[in-house]
Amino acid sequence: MEVRAKKALGQHFLTDQGVARSIVAALSADSPVRDVLEIGPGMGVLTQYLIGREDIDARMIEIDSESVSYLLTHFPGMEGRLMEGDYLRLDMSRVFPGPYRVIGNFPYNISSQIFFKILEDKDRVPEVVCMIQKEVADRIAEKPGSKVYGILSVLLQAWYDIEYVLSVGPGAFVPPPKVHSAVIRLRRNARTSLGCDEKLFKQVVKTAFNQRRKTLRNALKPLLPEGLDTSDPIFDLRAERLSVEDFIRLTQMLEIH
Ligand code: SAH
Repeated sequence: MEVRAKKALGQHFLTDQGVARSIVAALSADSPVRDVLEIGPGMGVLTQYLIGREDIDARMIEIDSESVSYLLTHFPGMEGRLMEGDYLRLDMSRVFPGPYRVIGNFPYNISSQIFFKILEDKDRVPEVVCMIQKEVADRIAEKPGSKVYGILSVLLQAWYDIEYVLSVGPGAFVPPPKVHSAVIRLRRNARTSLGCDEKLFKQVVKTAFNQRRKTLRNALKPLLPEGLDTSDPIFDLRAERLSVEDFIRLTQMLEIH
């Protein structure tokens, strides 16, 4: 019995074994971090290769009980590794005590929320390999100046180096999604702190992009301390022109007050 694909759970099962092998192979082999979380194993197309790797101790979180039953009957030794539940509600401190890596063909409808959750735990997550909608992958990897450069690009690039691994067409899945997909790898960069308040940094980035057609002077109005001198030319720009470093400098200017 196969798992019936449920749209609401973003279920598109990868059937191309070559792609599945490449995704699992994209998790670095030389990492000292053995613990790996797979988000949304589905019918186990990635899981089968993950559990075959001797350098990895994998655990999986799957929300769909039908997929969970499938995995338990098809893969011996899954008990104790497979958790049934919602990754977005999972308390990661109860899953792994130390650092862990993340892999998955993410449910596309919640991929941004997954990245925000990974960011909350960024100091424990040195590497992420994931398949997401190609459009989102492009956005995340994009540099300043591009129309699709946005909140996730800045917040992720502040902490991670992002590499494009491969693109995957709809035909690699059952049922085929309407969109193209891409696999990316994120590796934690050397940054240990931003040099500004992290919460304010996030707020500045979000506020600036939420009104991305406005100059920063206008878009950031609600955040500008009274009396702040906004003659610096950075305030004439729009969010999409700013690098991570520019956003840090901007946050520092708002902080001084
Ligand atoms: N890895 C499989 C399935 C990818 S589809 C493959 O490549 O074929 C996405 C998977 O994520 C589905 O199995 C879906 O049930 C699961 N999923 C969706 N939302 C989830 C959530 N919030 N937490 C954990 N798993 C989730």
